[in-house]
Amino acid sequence: MSASLSPLLVTATPVLVDHASGSYVYDADGVRWLDFTTGIGVTSTGHCHPAVVEAAREQVGRLIHGQYTTVRHGPMLELTEMLGHVLPPGLDSVFYANSGSEAVEAAVRLARMATGKPNIITFHGGFHGRTVAAASLTTAGTKFRSGFSPLMSGVFTAPFPYALRYGWDEEQAVDFALGELDYLLQTQSAVADTAAFLIEPVLGDGGYLPTPLRFLQGLRERADQHGIVLVLDEVQTGVGRTGTFWGHQPSGIVPDVLITAKGIASGFPISAIAAPTALMSKAWPGSQGGTYGGNAVSCAAAVATLKVVEEEGLVENSARQGERLMAGLRDVAGSTSTVADVRGRGLMVGVEFCDPDGSPRADLASAAQQASIDEGLLLLTCGTRGNVVRFIPPLVVTAEQVDDGVAAWAKALARIGA
Ligand code: PMP
Repeated sequence: MSASLSPLLVTATPVLVDHASGSYVYDADGVRWLDFTTGIGVTSTGHCHPAVVEAAREQVGRLIHGQYTTVRHGPMLELTEMLGHVLPPGLDSVFYANSGSEAVEAAVRLARMATGKPNIITFHGGFHGRTVAAASLTTAGTKFRSGFSPLMSGVFTAPFPYALRYGWDEEQAVDFALGELDYLLQTQSAVADTAAFLIEPVLGDGGYLPTPLRFLQGLRERADQHGIVLVLDEVQTGVGRTGTFWGHQPSGIVPDVLITAKGIASGFPISAIAAPTALMSKAWPGSQGGTYGGNAVSCAAAVATLKVVEEEGLVENSARQGERLMAGLRDVAGSTSTVADVRGRGLMVGVEFCDPDGSPRADLASAAQQASIDEGLLLLTCGTRGNVVRFIPPLVVTAEQVDDGVAAWAKALARIGA
């Protein structure tokens, strides 16, 4: 018998990658693509950054697995100490898991146990993962949540201030979404039953839509007023991706729980939640654990990643190259009739395709993404309506690589007649 991969695993490109370095991936024949997908925002320091490779290699020879409810190990303690320097003030207690979904579940469990309340309020278009609980919190598309009901109960979804979709300006959209959240608290999920608000600082799979800062501030106010835990899912937006270390920082708010994963270890699987010790301590002892959480090699890679981010000024580079990328993409958009929006923060940039009447054009987003592959540029689509192409370069991307990416994109759009 010969086995093959599940036909349900849909792959965005035909690339059979053999090796990768920095901003590029290569096939076995040496054909090269500029990788503006970074494994969905994971290879933050670029592919196989020498410092990360070396740290992982060294750790593999020393200790691969030191199960954390059995023993403690150095890389996990070092990583925790380093996170203390970058986490929002007061979030001094860290729990490690392996994937974003798992960390989202840990955050939900913490919020429910700590408050003794059942309900979680999410925001339309949010993506929080594929495990059943995380999928129950996800409204970035029915493909993530239909066909395997019953989902986890106790989840309510409030509108996200998606100004472009409503045809409003941002202020109107924020007023509307905050008003609807208050209405939801009055009519569906009573304050006394609501454990947490859960939101991404920039909607990821839901469309690379920055969450307006005033909306985040409005959530913080309501969370304080009602004793609700504010959980920020920074799985995709964290570790410099948005031009600040965390995506929420420009809002000036501090969350109660922060979820991180993806970019934190440059490709090694690890995720974490952070919360004030006082909050963490309200959950039940022994309610956190797992076989692989805080894997020693992943922790060593994360320590190396944080050092590289700091030493190479990658947060600043993300802000700088992000501006260059956005300006380049806006320039290209100027000669099309179907690019409705170019937006983002730092190196998390989305291009949304719509007809002049506002109808979403998923067909064009998909055609542009595919045409880009032939131009040597790897991209992904996203969006609740599938009509957004997302640009997720590594944080080490250079100005020249950004310009190459924009030039390839311009050619791709010209080819499909967008
Ligand atoms: N939250 C966000 C914001 C994400 O972008 C993702 C992954 N795209 C997840 C959670 C789930 O992470 P994982 O795929 O590692 O379970």
